[in-house]
Amino acid sequence: MQVYRTASHERSRLSEAAQPKGERITATGRIEIDFERCKACELCVPACPKDCIGMGAAVNRQGYASAVFERPDDCTGCAICAETCPDACILVWR
Ligand code: SF4
Ligand code: SF4
Repeated sequence: MQVYRTASHERSRLSEAAQPKGERITATGRIEIDFERCKACELCVPACPKDCIGMGAAVNRQGYASAVFERPDDCTGCAICAETCPDACILVWR
């Protein structure tokens, strides 16, 4: 599996050309949203290309209903959500 990174971001993608013929490799990732720091701006929700993030109902100490990682099975670890969050509330593993 070959991974490319842009010069200024941690965003990466799989190289289709590097995959053996007939074999599909799917990147998997995981994120963690800091519940207490989230200000519920909702920017990360439409930013995720896999629709993994939604807005929750639980209210944090700041009075905001934090974003939640709703569909972990579909996360690729692309880190677009983390790059989008203006408060750096999202950590990404892949
Ligand atoms: S890392 Fe990518 S796929 Fe995973 S939740 Fe964030 S934007 Fe969505
Ligand atoms: S972009 Fe950041 S602050 Fe805004 S809802 Fe998402 S996690 Fe919360």
